[in-house]
Amino acid sequence: MGVLDGKIALVTGSTGGIGKAIAQGFAAAGAKVWIHGRNQAAGELLAAELQGRFVQADLSQPHEVEALAKAVFEQEDRLDILVNNAGVEIIMPLERLNMDDLDTIWKVNVRAPFQLTHLLLPLLKKAAHASIINITSIHDTMPYPHNAAYSASKAALAMFGKTIAVELAPLGIRVNNFAPGAVETEINREVIHELGEDKFRDWIPIGRVAQTDEMIGPAVFLASDAASYITGTTLYADGGYLQNLVRYRPE
Ligand code: NAD
Repeated sequence: MGVLDGKIALVTGSTGGIGKAIAQGFAAAGAKVWIHGRNQAAGELLAAELQGRFVQADLSQPHEVEALAKAVFEQEDRLDILVNNAGVEIIMPLERLNMDDLDTIWKVNVRAPFQLTHLLLPLLKKAAHASIINITSIHDTMPYPHNAAYSASKAALAMFGKTIAVELAPLGIRVNNFAPGAVETEINREVIHELGEDKFRDWIPIGRVAQTDEMIGPAVFLASDAASYITGTTLYADGGYLQNLVRYRPE
């Protein structure tokens, strides 16, 4: 028996990275998983592997967000788990502010989760104990210089989650934020390698960057009935990164 047996889940941006690991973890825990992404070949392959479904949609396009919700509606009569995972990061110092990039970050990281959650609400209401998980970041609270657009988008997503947690609790729907620290994926692989492992050994108390499979446990927990009394909170999986601002060690 898996902890997610019989549950139906949608994980956005799940053809790679953290989303793929979460989708695999959900399937291993017994859930039927809807994979979403832009890469059709990777999505169909993973859906076949997990005996789930795949929908292709560019979340920067509101009509494609609608099409994604419609595809789930056409096949399911309820949705137990929604993970708003898809996200984009474009490093952008204020001096080089590019409004098109800013709009893309905002559309994918904020507008799409709002729209998708709104559209899927009727299906989530039909589940016995639905769980919505927003993948934010340690930068939902911690500034990341030269990356204000991304950090601000994650802060907005986090507050979206906390606010609707209060709104939806009477409907039996839990909403939580899951905030990873540094996890090696396409979003940051270049930067991580450029900086080198030594830097992260110093910065992160656990002494290393995380691998994607280390994000499965927290996501499965928040999705499962084991977290039945947890809503409106943020679960940080960051190896202690946020707590290590003071690196001075008195002798
Ligand atoms: P990733 O680049 O491997 O995955 C991001 C996913 O979002 C991809 O599947 C990508 O296709 C999808 N996506 C991006 N733009 C999209 C669009 N316009 N339409 C549809 N899908 C789109 O990176 P990741 O690290 O796995 O990121 C997953 C989530 O985790 C993101 O929200 C990211 O901000 C967050 N996060 C990552 C880290 C980290 O260190 N990797 C840390 C904190 C938070």
